[in-house]
Amino acid sequence: MAATVIDGKQVAQQIRDALKKEVAQLQQKYGITPGLAAVLVGENPASKVYVNMKAKACEETGIYSQKIHLPADTPQEKLIELIHNLNADTRIHGILVQLPLPDHLDQHKVLQEVSPNKDVDGFHPINLGKLLSAKFWEELPLFVPCTPAGCIKLIESTGTQIEGKHAVVVGRSVIVGKPVAMLLLAKQATVTIAHSRTKNLKEVCRQADILVVAAGRPKLVTADMIKPGAVVIDVGVNRVGEKQLVGDVDFEAAKEVAGFITPVPGGVGPMTIAMLLKNTVESAKRTVGA
Ligand code: NDP
Repeated sequence: MAATVIDGKQVAQQIRDALKKEVAQLQQKYGITPGLAAVLVGENPASKVYVNMKAKACEETGIYSQKIHLPADTPQEKLIELIHNLNADTRIHGILVQLPLPDHLDQHKVLQEVSPNKDVDGFHPINLGKLLSAKFWEELPLFVPCTPAGCIKLIESTGTQIEGKHAVVVGRSVIVGKPVAMLLLAKQATVTIAHSRTKNLKEVCRQADILVVAAGRPKLVTADMIKPGAVVIDVGVNRVGEKQLVGDVDFEAAKEVAGFITPVPGGVGPMTIAMLLKNTVESAKRTVGA
């Protein structure tokens, strides 16, 4: 039987609708409007698109958004000074520095300067460290990275119980693979992390009740690598030819084997933005103790 396709757009829209109501309530009850600052350095076309999408999503939800576009040759001290100003700005509850940064900037150093209390991307070492030390979901830090958090929501949207399941994550980046593995652990799954040096990826993937793929390799995961009935979350975004975007999973064949599967586009992507908005609203709520 063909898999149920998980509609990421719909799940994301439900989250955004609920946030819109929360934002209106925050304004009414506390006179506060959640605010997000998005900092873009340089002219990376994909980054520009992402920042614009995030700003538009803020507007639609009633969140105040500030786009700050700096030239590609911005010195690191200047960027850090801007981040310090945003840390102190009471209209701003979330700061996101769009990655990747131009080569002359030290990404690690720059992200460290964002206040952990406004780190809505969840990339500050304090928040990443807390994510690593959390044994239970309730012990997670103020903010967890948006794409991984979105993956968990999508898995849960299928009604699948994560606890006790074998989850395999393909990819070990700090942005997706590692945090998603930590979140699955906090949900009490048994987790295997695979990467480019993993031997016999097919056999490893075939053990997965839940398979999350974040490798950035088109068609890395084929139908014969999927356990029948598994939940497959495809994080990959790969440009093929001029206009087509595909994931890391051979979707058409895989959907004949999986139980649930996300499409690309329309799966994980919309969830990343929804979770960013959610983190921003949560941050604003904390400032008023709501
Ligand atoms: P990275 O390139 O940082 O990491 C890729 C990971 O995949 C690495 O750990 C790498 O292993 C592993 N990998 C690469 N090739 C193979 C292979 N042949 N077999 C097994 N593992 C492999 O990418 P990101 O984590 O940043 O992103 C992953 C994908 O997710 C990309 O397509 C990106 O565009 C997409 N993405 C989508 C988002 C969304 O909102 N939808 C958000 C963020 C990312 P090793 O460590 O050994 O090199």
